[in-house]
Amino acid sequence: MKILVINCGSSSLKYQLIDSETEQVMAKGLCERITIDGCLTHTTTGKEKYSRNVPMPDHNAAVKYVLEALVDSETGALASLSEIDAVGHRIVHGGEKFATSSVLTEDVIAAIEECNDLAPLHNPANLIGIRACMKLMPDVPMVAVFDTAFHQTMPDKAYIYGLPYRYYSDYKIRKYGFHGTSHSFVSKRTAELLGKDIRDTKIIVCHLGNGSSITAVDGGKSVDTTMGLTPLAGLPMGTRSGDIDPAIIEFVAAKENMTAEQVTTVLNKESGVFGLSGVSSDFRDLNKGIAEGNDRCRLAMEVFCYSVKKYIGSYAAVMGGLDAVAFTAGVGENDPLVRKLATEGLEFLGIKIDEKANQVRGEEICISTPDSKVAVWVVPTNEELAIARETAALV
Ligand code: ADP
Repeated sequence: MKILVINCGSSSLKYQLIDSETEQVMAKGLCERITIDGCLTHTTTGKEKYSRNVPMPDHNAAVKYVLEALVDSETGALASLSEIDAVGHRIVHGGEKFATSSVLTEDVIAAIEECNDLAPLHNPANLIGIRACMKLMPDVPMVAVFDTAFHQTMPDKAYIYGLPYRYYSDYKIRKYGFHGTSHSFVSKRTAELLGKDIRDTKIIVCHLGNGSSITAVDGGKSVDTTMGLTPLAGLPMGTRSGDIDPAIIEFVAAKENMTAEQVTTVLNKESGVFGLSGVSSDFRDLNKGIAEGNDRCRLAMEVFCYSVKKYIGSYAAVMGGLDAVAFTAGVGENDPLVRKLATEGLEFLGIKIDEKANQVRGEEICISTPDSKVAVWVVPTNEELAIARETAALV
């Protein structure tokens, strides 16, 4: 089957056309600056990549250009749009309604709309993408794949906050967790690499990218994860603070004469390793800063890795054991220093890193020593492929 995977943001739209039998990417691209002006970058596998400025007043226009790019007689990947068998949409928040992916119907769309409150920046954009695709491909089946679904197996003791219980019953305030498609994909692949049935494994997946989260996957199920009601919680990230003392919000608001909303914006956009280093949210820049002797880059790096290490320890405790740790996403796949600092001193847990293997970037590789009780792997994530697999399975 040929599956079009759509990941729609408020002003961007990423897409991949995937052949679900061979699992090869046939074409991929990105629409940027939707509602501002519009730019499409498209690559059909085996053909040259190109960028084109085209007016995208709304997401309908963006989807229209994507479909045109896919069937372009010279640069496209398909002879006709009728070759697209299904569309898989990445949806950020499925609340408690979705523990699995779902074929999109009007009822499912209404249920996603009900979760808008929980992800006001993401879900409305995802819905616009769905509507735009439905309008232009009315007869093609579509599937919603949720970032939160994989974590719906967490027990209540892991997802309830220590707040008045009615905040949960009235407003559904609880931990949901994100990056679920990636945590699911990487934990499955790690179990395969261990040569074990996933039901017999205890795996910690460290998805470390611009946004970062760690999940304890026990027997193939998420039992705890670091992100919360929103993707602001857990680890310090590129620009997000991660967990802080909640009293800081009021304290900063008073000191800086800001509203709670303004402080939250700082926590989302000006904090994390960017805020700490004052240099960058990108770990390549932090590494460069450290090499040049910048002490705040060193501090940002150490704060991040210390937090990763604490979660590895705590999730080993949560699961009562550990078979493997998997590092994935932009930082996890490419930064040997992060992997080293996050795992050093964990020999007591059975984790021993092979320094040489750990130098690898972006490749699937075991980076623990042969006598390490816990296997440590770099496992590149592939959220688009995971969405394509889910979509193919459901239609
Ligand atoms: P997201 O999907 O959350 O936007 P990614 O998983 O693509 O993020 O990760 C992007 C991040 O990966 C970059 O911001 C950068 O910090 C990090 N990264 C990418 N390449 C490297 C590298 N070679 N060395 C260190 N960090 C890298």
